[in-house]
Amino acid sequence: MSAPLLQVRNLKVYYHVEAGAVKAVDDVSFDMDFGVKMGLVGESGSGKSTMALAMMRMIKPPGKIEGGQMILNGTDLVTLTEEQMRQTKLRNLAMIPQGAMNSLNPVMRIDKQMVDGMIDHNSVLSRDELKARVQELLASVDLDPKVANMFPHQLSGGMKQRVCVAMSIAMEPDLIIADEPTSALDVVIQRQVMETINRLQVKLGLSMILIGHDMGLMAQCVDRVAVMYAGRMMEIGETRGIFREPLHPYTQLLIESLPVLENKGVFSGIPGITPSLLNPPEGCVFHTRCPKAWDLCKERIPQFVEVQSGRWVACHLHTA
Ligand code: ATP
Ligand code: SF4
Repeated sequence: MSAPLLQVRNLKVYYHVEAGAVKAVDDVSFDMDFGVKMGLVGESGSGKSTMALAMMRMIKPPGKIEGGQMILNGTDLVTLTEEQMRQTKLRNLAMIPQGAMNSLNPVMRIDKQMVDGMIDHNSVLSRDELKARVQELLASVDLDPKVANMFPHQLSGGMKQRVCVAMSIAMEPDLIIADEPTSALDVVIQRQVMETINRLQVKLGLSMILIGHDMGLMAQCVDRVAVMYAGRMMEIGETRGIFREPLHPYTQLLIESLPVLENKGVFSGIPGITPSLLNPPEGCVFHTRCPKAWDLCKERIPQFVEVQSGRWVACHLHTA
């Protein structure tokens, strides 16, 4: 069997604030295969964005990668120098951040921004080839060729976000991380941009980590789902299996709290509050809210283990 595209091992990312260390990502390990679209879900503050920023090596003080490995296609991203990481970005790894459209340079035409981005990442194409590539990329995200000559302020939010998607695939990276790529857009535009991303993912066989709160949206567009809670990975598995038979009590509650027609689309939420990551609970970090917790849960951290083929869970119910 070939090695996975991505192997994250015991990753720890802490924010060192006056009151202590906020354990935003705490001992997270998982694998991801080539060509897979994986959704990373969890309530606000569970560590999803920190995970994405760590993979891009964009954690800023007071944050710090405390330890662990992130092996992408055989290279441990944690150990790369700044310059090696700059080369890796876009060429091997690209990110569509939250509100990416605001990252476009307001005083530069779209084609220049896209060409400069490719040159910056050592594209071997000639000037003419780069111009042609811009047209090809714009077409791939369903934008008119005229967009190349426009400035960002002449584009709608959805169009700008499409430009950012085009830029992220420009160098055909091994992995794209999209952090709530459509959250700043209205619902209809969100759906259209997501459809474009989905189509591109299938057409180009992209490997993608899609971060979001919305389990319902994930159900429709990812192959695998990874569930985080309070800085830890709770469950990973194939999307259909996760929805049909969620094994972790937190995943079960996330799915049960999804709006359904019978309750008129009301999002019920999960009872209780997320723990402080400055001082997380002993044992299973979810025990303070878990309806199935027992004594052992307060004492021992459950291991994250493969309980079925491709299904990983951190819960004593399945591993004790
Ligand atoms: P959301 O869905 O709201 O974006 P998230 O799951 O992406 O949330 P993160 O933004 O990664 O979660 O935050 C994880 C934890 O790290 C939270 O407790 C947050 O308060 C903390 N955190 C994030 N950035 C910083 C920072 N710069 N300084 C201190 N703590 C931080
Ligand atoms: Fe609930 Fe215990 Fe499983 Fe944690 S380990 S999710 S507290 S049953």
